[in-house]
Amino acid sequence: SDHQLTYPTIPSQMDWSPHYPAFINPNATTSPKPLTKPITIADIGCGFGGLLVALAPLLPSSLLLGLEIRTQVTEYVQDRISALRAQHAPPPLPPPISTSSLPSPDRSASASSSPPLVGLYQNISVLRTNTMKFLPNFFSRHQLSHIFLCFPDPHFKTRKHKARIVSETLCAEYAYVLRPGGYVFTITDVEELGMWMGERFGGFGKRGDGGGEERGLFERVEVPEEGEEGVWEREGGERAEVGMLVRCVREETEEGKKVGRNGGRKFVGVWRRREDPAWP
Ligand code: SAM
Repeated sequence: SDHQLTYPTIPSQMDWSPHYPAFINPNATTSPKPLTKPITIADIGCGFGGLLVALAPLLPSSLLLGLEIRTQVTEYVQDRISALRAQHAPPPLPPPISTSSLPSPDRSASASSSPPLVGLYQNISVLRTNTMKFLPNFFSRHQLSHIFLCFPDPHFKTRKHKARIVSETLCAEYAYVLRPGGYVFTITDVEELGMWMGERFGGFGKRGDGGGEERGLFERVEVPEEGEEGVWEREGGERAEVGMLVRCVREETEEGKKVGRNGGRKFVGVWRRREDPAWP
C-alpha cells in the first residue's frame, strides 16, 4: 500500500544516484548529489517498460523515468534496465599509452579531451510510486517536456471514475510539472476513455469570461493516422517528433502490442501545454 512508499518532501531532496549513476555529478558537494541534467520525460503507469526501452536509444540526451505502482512490475523493469545496461556497456578503455611512444602528440590530446563514454540505457529508470499522490514530490514546476499516459486502467464503473489517472485535479498537476510547449501523449483502446481524457485535457483551464474564444491550458495537436507515422517522421520539425513518439506509443508499449495482435483500435491524443495565462 501507499504506506510503504517513500518519496522526497521536495524534488531537490530526491537521491537519483541509484537510478542514473552515469548522470550524477561526482564532484558535487551537496547531498544528495544532483543529476547533471534534469529528468524531462515521464511515463506514468509505465507497466513493463516497453516504451522506456524503445525511447532510450531514440532520445539519448534526455533522461526518462517510468513511474509504476506495482512492486513486482517495478522490479521487473529495474532488472530489465540493468540487463540492458550490462549488455550495452561501453568497451573498457584501452590501457594508458606512454606519450613518448606516440608518433605525434595529437593522439594523447584527443584522448584526454574526448567525453567519457556512456553506455546505452543509462538514461532510463523506473520508480515505484503512486503518481496520483506524489507527482509534485518528484518533479518541480515546468520540469517535464513530455508526459506519457499509455493505456491507463479504464475503471469502467461510474463509481470508479475517481480512480482514473486523468481528471481535472490531475490535469492541474500535469500542467504544473509540464513546461509550456511540452506535450502530453495519451493512448487507450477504450474509446469512451479516450473521449474522457480528451474532454479533461481539452477543457482544462477554460473559463467563461462572457466573450471571446475560450482557451484552455492544453491545445490539441494533430496526430498521424495509423501507418502514416513514418511519413511524418521524414517531414522534420514538430511533425517528425510527434510522428516518432506516436509510433512508439502505438507499437512499443506492451499494451499497444497486445491490442495490435488482437486487431483492436488505439485512440491517441496529443496535447501541447500552452503558456500560463496572465490572470487578472
Ligand atoms: N503503460 C503500459 C503500457 O502501455 O503497456 C502499462 C499499461 S497498464 C494497463 C496500466 C499501468 O498503470 C499498470 O501497470 C498499473 O499498475 C499502473 N498504475 C495504475 N495506477 C497507477 C498509479 N496511481 N501510479 C502509478 N502507476 C499506476
